[in-house]
Amino acid sequence: MTSMKKRPSALHTKGEMHGCIVCGKLYQIYVVSDANDKFLGCKVMSVGGGPIPNDDHPLTAWGKHFDQEIEAAVRRVYDKLEKDD
Ligand SMILES: [Zn+2]
Repeated sequence: MTSMKKRPSALHTKGEMHGCIVCGKLYQIYVVSDANDKFLGCKVMSVGGGPIPNDDHPLTAWGKHFDQEIEAAVRRVYDKLEKDD
């Protein structure tokens, strides 16, 4: 068989549970990372959930939240991280 497609072996996905950044409800997501375990992106498997674009961490938000709610929650989380540092 010469028509078999090569899979991109450098990438791996793993299933994880992550809480919605706004309300904390847990969702099943797939995290995509490269061969060096660098976070590349994530896909939310639960219906209605969606990933928040982010460089380093998989964040999830339930689709029913308003953009402002999500932005406020992201800001709250990062403010907290900076204070703890
Ligand atoms: Zn939520």
